[in-house]
Amino acid sequence: MLKDKIAVITGASRGIGRTISLELARNGATVVVSARNAELLGQLVDEIAAGGGKALAVVGDVANTSDADRLIEAAFTAFGRVDILVNNAGITRDGILLRMRDEDWDAVLDTNLKGAFVLTRAAAKIMAKQRSGRIINISSVVGEMGNAGQANYCASKAGLIGLTKSNARELSKRNVTVNAITPGFISTEMTDELPEKVRNELLAQIPLGRFGSAADIAHAVLFLAADQSGYITGQVLGINGGMYM
Ligand code: NAP
Repeated sequence: MLKDKIAVITGASRGIGRTISLELARNGATVVVSARNAELLGQLVDEIAAGGGKALAVVGDVANTSDADRLIEAAFTAFGRVDILVNNAGITRDGILLRMRDEDWDAVLDTNLKGAFVLTRAAAKIMAKQRSGRIINISSVVGEMGNAGQANYCASKAGLIGLTKSNARELSKRNVTVNAITPGFISTEMTDELPEKVRNELLAQIPLGRFGSAADIAHAVLFLAADQSGYITGQVLGINGGMYM
């Protein structure tokens, strides 16, 4: 489905980004995977190669503008194109508003929102020349709903939705689509470790009665990345088991 496509995925060392990278590689894309942990990225590249796929690891911090620019440059130098960018890297620094420190605000906004802006700016130059491209931003259901104790995270994820829609409008004349995915609660090491009472309270808010999986998100990224999805842009695709409609 993605034969000859070059895909850059941030936050690929674990969790949702790792699953997205495996899914795109399984479907024929050459994946350029990035995060700060070189060892985990190396393991991912080996796993993709063992499955017959092609991957390149570029270690870097998306909150650092020169690292973000270098990632897109590395992909273009190695493969001569950038077809798909998945802005997935994200962090939380939770705390109630009255106690939130400036550095917790800045770290989350720099990673989750500014990182996506810098990477999109760099990739869009290449995609505009190619007259094709797919940019997929991993936002969150709490960017749509808000969440107590996560003012910084929710602001960054809501900001990603505004960035998505603005970039979709600007880049549409170059045949570059930009969409956001808003995951709900996705099973990760974090959700697996929650006390049963908290898990049950969360599950009660989800009409489908279960947490999502990283595969649920990866499948949607594949859908949006495909040539067949070329008429979808500026959209926010909620994958949340119905908890926000
Ligand atoms: P995760 O398991 O904590 O993984 C986060 C990934 O981002 C890691 O690969 C991490 O790698 C990378 N990362 C963090 N800061 C980075 C930085 N400054 N530069 C480069 N890479 C960085 O999180 P996840 O659950 O898979 O979440 C992935 C995305 O989905 C995030 O944007 C998150 O906000 C969003 N999301 C998750 C859920 C959920 O329920 N899990 C729900 C809604 C939205 P290194 O530490 O190696 O850099």
